Amino acid sequence: MNVENVVIIGSGPAGLTAAIYAARAALNPLMFEGFSAGGLIPGGQLMFTTDVENYPGFPQGVLGPTMMKAFREQAARFGTRFVTEDVREVDFTKRPFRIASDEHTAQARAVIIATGASANWLGLPNEKRLADSGGGVSACAVCDGALPAFRNQDLAVVGGGDSAVEEGSYLTKFARKVYLIHRRDQLRASKAMQERFFKLTEQGKMQPVWDSLVLDVLGDQAVTGLRVKNVKSGAVSDLAVRGVFMAIGHTPNSHIVRDFVACDEKGYIKLPQPGRTHTSVPGVFAAGDVADHVYRQAVTAAGSGCMAALDCERWLAEQE
Ligand code: NAP
Repeated sequence: MNVENVVIIGSGPAGLTAAIYAARAALNPLMFEGFSAGGLIPGGQLMFTTDVENYPGFPQGVLGPTMMKAFREQAARFGTRFVTEDVREVDFTKRPFRIASDEHTAQARAVIIATGASANWLGLPNEKRLADSGGGVSACAVCDGALPAFRNQDLAVVGGGDSAVEEGSYLTKFARKVYLIHRRDQLRASKAMQERFFKLTEQGKMQPVWDSLVLDVLGDQAVTGLRVKNVKSGAVSDLAVRGVFMAIGHTPNSHIVRDFVACDEKGYIKLPQPGRTHTSVPGVFAAGDVADHVYRQAVTAAGSGCMAALDCERWLAEQE
């Protein structure tokens, strides 16, 4: 079997930037761009985003999918080859490393892991049932918010971070009102997002439900409401909504590599050398959200993808 110089796993900003740099360094990278692992699709989390307004170079903003299409075209232009499948298995115990999807097995001298992170769920029984059946529970407003069932209805987002405000404000385009249910009485979201939220509440388009936990999602075939508990008063009440969108953070997609590279207790890949992308396994590098629980931005992911490709190129040169 042909041994690749470098296999890149994942096709968000980190993976595709690593591919652009690796391809331009004549490493002829092979990318497993994924298919549906972690609930993602090729292009990663930005494929579920509308306007990206903080990526430098786009003064008017850019749609997430448009940006990722451009990243992919740029990587392809310099010769990146793509396998549109999820990696099922890796073996980093011996070299060359082995990376396998259902239909393809590759051997590689080096690997860059850029598998990103996926949305978290509350873990309520009805939540999963109504999410799987398309009954009105979702973790992606951009994907599902415009469905006819949600038009002019009351909806809810759960969470108090940037995602909750962003998803909620997106939903106000369609909904009658969007409740933001947060377990505390202060948002975690950035100042700019908080301003957006409070403007929408003044306009009556959003309404906070502070200090509250969702105990259950109500509804048989479709969401009819949420059972909510106020953590300060202990009061339990039902909130009538037709849809609920979870925005309670993310989990790194490191499952397939956790037996091989050191990860922290949350599953983020550890990068032992500060400011570098080397993992605990020489020749295996990590970039983007799978190794970053702090910044988690498209631009930082892209930057770390560049770093991983440069680290990888130097490491390969040292091996010769
Ligand atoms: P996040 O900042 O981790 O916020 C998650 C929110 O969910 C927190 O408010 C948290 O509550 C709440 N939460 C977590 N687990 C919960 C549970 N089991 N039950 C109820 N609530 C729970 O996640 P995020 O909003 O997805 O943002 C992640 C990163 O992406 C951040 O760095 C953010 O700045 C960035 N981001 C940026 C943009 C943008 O700039 N356009 C948009 C989206 C995301 P607590 O606050 O009490 O912990």
